[in-house]
Amino acid sequence: MLIHLNEVLSCEEKTVAKNVDLEMNSFDSGLGSFPFLEKEPAALTITNLGDDKLKITGSVRLTAAIPCDRCLEEVSTPLELVISKEVDMKQTAEGRIKDLDETDFVIGYNLDVDKLVYGEILVNWPMKTLCREDCKGICRKCGTNLNHGSCSCDTVELDPRMAVIAEIFKNSN
Ligand SMILES: [Zn+2]
Ligand SMILES: [Zn+2]
Repeated sequence: MLIHLNEVLSCEEKTVAKNVDLEMNSFDSGLGSFPFLEKEPAALTITNLGDDKLKITGSVRLTAAIPCDRCLEEVSTPLELVISKEVDMKQTAEGRIKDLDETDFVIGYNLDVDKLVYGEILVNWPMKTLCREDCKGICRKCGTNLNHGSCSCDTVELDPRMAVIAEIFKNSN
């Protein structure tokens, strides 16, 4: 969704607060597509700092479904994003991308809220996602989710090199 910035830019010292619904229903990146289980409108405040500069602050709460790193089961992951950006409207679009080293979310005199939020999700994306700290993962041989039960695979016979590693782990415990 786009917010027209003309209203804020038209006079100095002006602040506009808006709740903006996000159009995107998932976070799509090179890692995959992660649907939002919940999304609240972005609560944004745009302040005219004068000299054609704007300050954009706000917060967004989302819950994304991210697969567990070990067992691939969906983990409901809350993302609380805090937004604080300054935009110099005098600069060219290219200049802004270079300065902030991120996607340009201001196009002409419009603020693209989805693009702004997308960039925030990207930098706040969890490095690691586990359904629980002691997730046992899946059996590499049959794919059984070992959190739900064991399988009858003899994992020691899987691969002679793996067997050696398994022995080392057994002995180190
Ligand atoms: Zn897991
Ligand atoms: Zn198995």
